[in-house]
Amino acid sequence: MKGLSRRISILGATGSVGASTALLIEEVRAGGAEIEIEAITGGRNLATLIDLARRLRPRFVALADESQLVAARAALPGVAVGAGPSALVEAAARDADWVMSAIVGAAGLAPTLAAVERGAAIALANKECLVCAGPLMRAAAAKSGARLLPVDSEHNAVFQVLSTPDRVERVTLTASGGPFRTWTREAMARASPAEAGRHPTWSMGPKITIDSATLMNKGLELIEASYLFDISPEKLSVLVHPQSVVHSLVHYVDGSVLAQMAAPDMRVPIASALAWPDRVPVSTARLDLARIGALSFEEPDENRFPALALARAALTTGAAATNALNAANEIAVEAFLRGRIGFLDIPHLVEASLEALAALGLIANSPSSFDDVRAIDEAARAAAGRELNRLAAA
Ligand code: NAD
Ligand code: MG
Repeated sequence: MKGLSRRISILGATGSVGASTALLIEEVRAGGAEIEIEAITGGRNLATLIDLARRLRPRFVALADESQLVAARAALPGVAVGAGPSALVEAAARDADWVMSAIVGAAGLAPTLAAVERGAAIALANKECLVCAGPLMRAAAAKSGARLLPVDSEHNAVFQVLSTPDRVERVTLTASGGPFRTWTREAMARASPAEAGRHPTWSMGPKITIDSATLMNKGLELIEASYLFDISPEKLSVLVHPQSVVHSLVHYVDGSVLAQMAAPDMRVPIASALAWPDRVPVSTARLDLARIGALSFEEPDENRFPALALARAALTTGAAATNALNAANEIAVEAFLRGRIGFLDIPHLVEASLEALAALGLIANSPSSFDDVRAIDEAARAAAGRELNRLAAA
């Protein structure tokens, strides 16, 4: 086998996906792969960013928080260091042939776009940038020749088993069901951030963990899948699968169903994107089906998890609606994590924000530029802020 050779950058290196990416890189480097690190970025966690820079030896380090620039430079002599939004974009624009997009939320949009526009292979963990600008992102990738390699485990699964796209009848995304899979609505109404944070099968960053508890994560993933694979909403379904072993399924017109399986470890989809179209040896836990014994599947309960229907409705309405859904959800999750609203207020706030924007005529037309995307994002955050104040006053 010819050795793996890549020049890579990691956007959002200090997060959960960033940590898995760093571990994987250290392992494949030790195994003989030639991996150069062009740039890494972080938000405000300077200690983790410095530790990663010492381990990975990037040429450029960027952090979002400008107030820590002086301290970052002092800690990393001999390394170019920048801070603020333009430094994040610079990190993505530098000449790496493979870029991990793992910043959380719409904050990842501008840096990811910079990497897409110069035609890099994009390992896409940041689903929000597709949810808020999927059609424009795909057009930018088509123009530059950038390859979007999905890292979200479900989409990576679909990508791995998608052989004849025009012979696909249906795609099923699996969902763990989250920590509240068996909870009543009444109990969910009183759920604390700590309870919502106890994900049964995956260890992830705080925002996606809450999204997994509301199932908004699966809603965002329906949108991600539709934009990424050009699949119409009615061909997409969700199946709750608590063991998180079957990562998704593609149903073909002849009745064949292809699934991808693996132990739940993000290093598996990241390795698949890193080595694509080849594969690379990785020491992740091997799937032991005899030990697991049984795999189970059930329909999601859209009454207890209204986020799924909200996401589906936004997808049907169009790209401005998915853009707004993402922004309102970011505000709602943040408010829940800060203890300002209850758990069931999250989908409620998203729905109310979308209704308010629809009444203003702001989600009828799909964004035709990234400036439009930013404008819709801002309008949705403002609408969500107003709904939040209304909820807090009630
Ligand atoms: P995380 O919160 O652990 O890490 C987020 C990263 O983004 C950190 O490096 C943080 O410093 C950085 N960041 C946060 N706000 C920023 C800002 N305003 N500007 C610049 N950088 C900022 O999140 P995560 O769990 O690693 O998830 C990252 C992305 O990958 C999300 O979009 C998530 O939906 C997706 N994803 C994660 C997993 C997982 O297993 N964690 C699985 C599938 C998809
Ligand atoms: Mg996922």
